[in-house]
Amino acid sequence: MKLNLDSAEIFVPDGLLAEQALARTTHMAVAAHQDDLEIMGFDGILQCFQRDDRWFTGVVVTNGSGSPRDDVYRDYTDQAMRVVRRKEQKKAAVVGEYAAQVLLDYPSGAVKDGSNGKPVQDIGLLLQVARPEVVYTHNLADKHDTHVAVALRTIEAIRNLPAAERPRRLYGCEIWRDLDWMVDADKVAFDCSAHENLQAALLGVFDSQICGGKRYDLATMGRRRANATYHASHSVDVTTGTIFAMDLTLLIQDPVRSCQAYVQEFIDRFAQEVSERLHRLR
Ligand SMILES: [Zn+2]
Repeated sequence: MKLNLDSAEIFVPDGLLAEQALARTTHMAVAAHQDDLEIMGFDGILQCFQRDDRWFTGVVVTNGSGSPRDDVYRDYTDQAMRVVRRKEQKKAAVVGEYAAQVLLDYPSGAVKDGSNGKPVQDIGLLLQVARPEVVYTHNLADKHDTHVAVALRTIEAIRNLPAAERPRRLYGCEIWRDLDWMVDADKVAFDCSAHENLQAALLGVFDSQICGGKRYDLATMGRRRANATYHASHSVDVTTGTIFAMDLTLLIQDPVRSCQAYVQEFIDRFAQEVSERLHRLR
């Protein structure tokens, strides 16, 4: 299979040929940056960990060259950062026992440019070979442009597939802005209580980001714990870690449905809940 950029790479931790490795995929996450998969898509990694009937494939769309840097990475050029981040993503793929780790290597500008069809083409090709049942990507209310662009490209790529070849479910997960604001009925809550050590290891390999000045490892574990506890005010905690997602499945079942109008419905339900409570308790 031929991806658009010569610098794109399909890394297979257990050494199978790329197409074979991808073909076993059941769960796939498509993310903007190196470390996003581990922050938002842990449910998929967990579902497939130590299983031989389920396999997780991670797809990272950008090259990560523009990330902030500090500590031992302070003087790294963009090119050196790109190399480091690619290496870190492969470490995570080994730790998490991924079926395959795809690095599409686009500059973020190329992904944010809606008229550039190449990222959609690549994601589409990967979906055709991997045929995942479940796909995780960024949620459409995220506040990072590249994240939202990747989610839109992923939706477009899925919509381009014949209906029978589309994944069964598509989830938009939280990173830059959590999804605690959604009304409870809208929340998809993934129980990520298990293997906290694995979660810590997967987040910890991204040293260039963490020493780069952002404690994504602590923040992500903290968010999972906070989600678990604050999910229900009148019952005891049922999980010790929860990741919230926005169900985007309707957008791939109905290819003409507007993404913008769909997200607006979530926002409207939130607004209605707040105003109803204030009205009731006046
Ligand atoms: Zn990101």
